[in-house]
Amino acid sequence: MSQIDAPPRAGHRFAELPDTSDPAAALTDPRIALTLDELSSCQGLAGKHITFSLTLACPLKCRHCIVDAGPEKGHTTMPLAVAERYAGQMADLAAYGIEGICFTGGEPTLARRQMQVMSAAAEAAGLETAMVTAAQWAATPKLAARTVADFPAIACWDVSFDLFHLDWVGFEHIRNAHDAILAAGRRFTLRFTYNDPPSETERALMARLGELEGAKIAAQRVRAVGRGEDMGIAASDKYNPWVKPCLTQGMVVRYDGSISPCCLNLVESRRHPFQLGEATARELAEIHHDYMRQPLLQLIRALGFGQLYLWLEEAGLTERLPEQLPDEACELCTLILQDRELADFLKAKAEEPANRLRIAVIAARSLGEDQMLRSLLEDDAVVLDPQERRALTQFLNRGRPDGATAGPTRGE
Ligand code: SF4
Ligand code: SF4
Repeated sequence: MSQIDAPPRAGHRFAELPDTSDPAAALTDPRIALTLDELSSCQGLAGKHITFSLTLACPLKCRHCIVDAGPEKGHTTMPLAVAERYAGQMADLAAYGIEGICFTGGEPTLARRQMQVMSAAAEAAGLETAMVTAAQWAATPKLAARTVADFPAIACWDVSFDLFHLDWVGFEHIRNAHDAILAAGRRFTLRFTYNDPPSETERALMARLGELEGAKIAAQRVRAVGRGEDMGIAASDKYNPWVKPCLTQGMVVRYDGSISPCCLNLVESRRHPFQLGEATARELAEIHHDYMRQPLLQLIRALGFGQLYLWLEEAGLTERLPEQLPDEACELCTLILQDRELADFLKAKAEEPANRLRIAVIAARSLGEDQMLRSLLEDDAVVLDPQERRALTQFLNRGRPDGATAGPTRGE
């Protein structure tokens, strides 16, 4: 899995990448990398999108890999029977409101049958399909065309390439993959992870990638996660981490049936407060339904981490934080949510009835996601002043004579 394990965005219906007509300029200040519309589009992805991590096996063993993938991890690959079970749920997911799925890993092409079965079912159900790959399969134009033809139901090919991939994959692989993907009428996106500040080599590599006609490029700095933890990445304090929202692009169903809240820093973490059970034992739509009603997650998605700081400060818990905080939202998130005491405290705080209601209203207003608020209003255990209940019900039914719910539902 590359360090930018977001679903493909270029040409994708969910969101558009910033203009990267000058590719080296993509290695710029992240504050200007997203417009407000793009930010809002990214924030909304979690409600409509699910990622499947098919395996931790990968022919590459990049130094910065956030999931510690490698050739020796074949034993992690999702069993075919499990993939078939998920494939059988694609129509339900579409009916529930999911619009797209993405496959990642490791290298998802190594789980060939699993991806074929699931992507075919997803395509038949009308879902957008995408995968993240390192394009090691594109050594020649012929091999590239063969692999692209092998996955006819994958619409968007999201290719990772950067300095760290160079020991295994060269620019020619990327060109071959690009040409084969476009020739087959699919979409091509490129993901590039760079050191901060980017080296001259990285800038030159990006400039070269600009030769690929029509390629959209997403760039992100290297993260101190997975093998990246051992890279001695210098702490950065360019930005205020508390104000940036969580931009998770949806839950990740891992190869072993466990669930991660995102495909970024918590992708391989088992120590986070959003425990949703096992996908091998529950229906995917049901898990997603619960995922979208996690008060703490909805709060950081809608508003960032500022309220968390205030709660920690009130409780005298800011002393547990290190003096220098990371300036990136996901790094701050990992730091806080993997501290059991802080995570338990914040989760309990967000779940207090008044806060839960407030967060549900915020999510409905700022993310346009009504599900959590609707569930609360339908829950007899939630005590509300009748006037408040009336006002919230009216808010939910605004402009919807039929009272339809915005975002995924389970048909309730
Ligand atoms: S290509 Fe590199 S970063 Fe991506 S999964 Fe494989 S080892 Fe990890
Ligand atoms: S802020 Fe946390 S939950 Fe959100 S994407 Fe980053 S690591 Fe994942």
